[in-house]
Amino acid sequence: MKIDMAYGSGGRQTGDLIHDIFLKNFDNKILGRMEDAAILKVGGNIAYTTDSFVVTPLFFRGGDIGKLAVCGTVNDLLMMGAMPKYLTAGFIIEEGADTDTLDRIAGSMSLAAREAKVKIVAGDTKVIEGKGGIYINTSGIGEIQRTGVSISGCRKGDVILLSGNLGEHHAAVMSHRMGIENIIQSDCASLRSIVKNLNHIKVHCMRDVTRGGLATVLNEAAQASSCAIEIYEEALPISHEVRGFCDILGLDPLYMANEGKMIAVVPENQAGKALDIMKNSRYGENSRMIGRIKEGEGVTMVTALKGSRIIDILYGEGLPRIC
Ligand code: MG
Repeated sequence: MKIDMAYGSGGRQTGDLIHDIFLKNFDNKILGRMEDAAILKVGGNIAYTTDSFVVTPLFFRGGDIGKLAVCGTVNDLLMMGAMPKYLTAGFIIEEGADTDTLDRIAGSMSLAAREAKVKIVAGDTKVIEGKGGIYINTSGIGEIQRTGVSISGCRKGDVILLSGNLGEHHAAVMSHRMGIENIIQSDCASLRSIVKNLNHIKVHCMRDVTRGGLATVLNEAAQASSCAIEIYEEALPISHEVRGFCDILGLDPLYMANEGKMIAVVPENQAGKALDIMKNSRYGENSRMIGRIKEGEGVTMVTALKGSRIIDILYGEGLPRIC
């Protein structure tokens, strides 16, 4: 069925949408009470974040806007040392969107939430004029389990670990938009298992590699921590397919978005153990040691030919509506 403005009226059709799609898919006691707000039990300090998702197309190889909306917010909580517990989801739906499409997206959110062990406990739906677009905002709460992990926490001598191949989400979305046939899949995933398994390792900084790519994350870390970063081109994990895609289109994987990768910056004496743990964690199988924290400022890369290249932050637009 096509969604029209009546679905946003707050009346009968809104109720149908909530029951037939959201309550059915997100099924949990807290949401099921249907009060004006969810009542939550949370122990100690919490991390709290929000993110909006406007990706186009809504479905791409390896994921969809729903999976992205859950994993993106979950990963931001994890990067702050928090175990994600609760999410809220706000949907802005343009008239003309299909109820089956919305149901598929909600189903995908439910699966992703179960894997990340979070509950979707409150939500909202608005319908606006338009051409069938769907946008989602998710907010999330996590319980702090590790303190002192910060973008400003990198120290001279620390080692930078990356949890897997670069550029996959970006290349998957772009392939879909350009109608290019390939086997590249978005890496959209929850980083819960990697972070949980690193629990006993001293970690100075964690950050998920999203919009702006690895280059942007590293520049933010170098700036916030008042240090220099050196990475090694030969150590960067990039799949054969993504490398080929980049070569043809003149793209640089360092600036391409991921949605299921992170860096962990750890003291040198923890690096070997941390890398092993990451490699043995779900979605971390291709983790690598990619660089080091040094004295100075800025980010440089030792190239495959042993030259040195300055890696600047992403300027300009990047790829719009990538997440
Ligand atoms: Mg982030």
